[in-house]
Amino acid sequence: MLADQDRIFTNIYGMHDRSLAGARKRGHWDGTAELLAKGRDWIVSEVKTSGLRGRGGAGFPTGMKWSFMPKESDGRPSYLVVNADESEPATCKDREIMRHDPHTLVEGCLVAGFGMGAIAAYIYIRGEFIREREALQTAIDEAYDAGLIGKNACGSGYDFDVYLHHGAGAYICGEETALLESLEGRKGMPRMKPPFPANTGLYGCPTTVNNVESIAVAPTILRRGASWFSSFGRPNNAGVKLFAMSGHVNTPCVVEESMSISMKELIEKHGGGIRGGWKNLKAIIPGGASCPILPADLCDTAIMDYDGMRELKSSFGTACMIVMDQNTDVIKAVWRLAKFFKHESCGQCTPCREGTGWMMRVMDRLVTGDAEPEEIDMLLDVTKQVEGHTICALGDAAAWPIQGLIRHYRNEIEDRIKAKRTGRVSAVAAE
Ligand code: SF4
Repeated sequence: MLADQDRIFTNIYGMHDRSLAGARKRGHWDGTAELLAKGRDWIVSEVKTSGLRGRGGAGFPTGMKWSFMPKESDGRPSYLVVNADESEPATCKDREIMRHDPHTLVEGCLVAGFGMGAIAAYIYIRGEFIREREALQTAIDEAYDAGLIGKNACGSGYDFDVYLHHGAGAYICGEETALLESLEGRKGMPRMKPPFPANTGLYGCPTTVNNVESIAVAPTILRRGASWFSSFGRPNNAGVKLFAMSGHVNTPCVVEESMSISMKELIEKHGGGIRGGWKNLKAIIPGGASCPILPADLCDTAIMDYDGMRELKSSFGTACMIVMDQNTDVIKAVWRLAKFFKHESCGQCTPCREGTGWMMRVMDRLVTGDAEPEEIDMLLDVTKQVEGHTICALGDAAAWPIQGLIRHYRNEIEDRIKAKRTGRVSAVAAE
């Protein structure tokens, strides 16, 4: 188990004082000016060496992303945008940072913003996060009052502003370019890439969009050193990370642990085990709604990191697991996700707009068993037509859970269709 002295988030459960004074007592804002004095290049290279990868789901190396920002301004300012629109079903780790340990994020904005030469950070927070917004705004105000951000931040001679902007509750605004559109006051619809935000982002200026956790861990990495951070986890999967588990575990929680911990250990140690014991496990969605479902036999030995999940044809995502025991109707669970993605599609591109609705309607019938067996392959085929053929990743996110379901639970789907035909059981109706 991760030792307490290696935890970055020391108030994730809100047991301590989250104010600036409390945060300082726990080591945050300690020597920030000295970190800035080491220079932009040192910050970016240290984060690169630490092996930190984006904690929002895509897992792109964070230091490398920062290095894409222009070294010299061509007259345009550069911006850091923090994606705090955490809306993926079951994902609720950034929320804990913002409501209980908000100074980690504010300090992170300053050091990351300085590292990439940004003049300001815009934190785009999910509209439903009311208390989190209040806590974060209080932390920002405290940091301004103490001279930690704003003009001559931390006495470094560097001016840096932090703005908090709240969304209106659309999942698609968590997609980085939709987020930028929304921030600029337009409808949250993803942009075509290229141009990439590092070249043309917010207000047409160079911009880096990072997840809350990726930014909040940066100051501690710089204080403790890249080699400390990279000593956790397997190569290419370095660091400590917030994990979450919800569903049929005895104690659902968010917990900071070392990367590459086994799924079983994580659940047994922190989630209090599966309801009814490990043998009662049916399936786990490992990292948020878009990650393909894993059946129990694969979960036995699964390693929770980017490579471990990729080897199992799933995805690490945000490392927020949905755990399902034997009582779960997995077909209905995936149907519910299909319904979610259909609802959240922005409708801009045809494969996603039409495909998500089409997939959901077939899933409706698979839940009740009112389908032809051939429709299973037809559905799989449609998921392939959607995957990779859309402007943003929502199309893929809608396709993958269904692909995972068919890969691992085809028998269950077929049995339900047969049962419905023979009248053996009453099928579960989609609501
Ligand atoms: Fe919009 Fe879906 Fe296309 Fe993304 S994939 S741009 S959500 S229609």
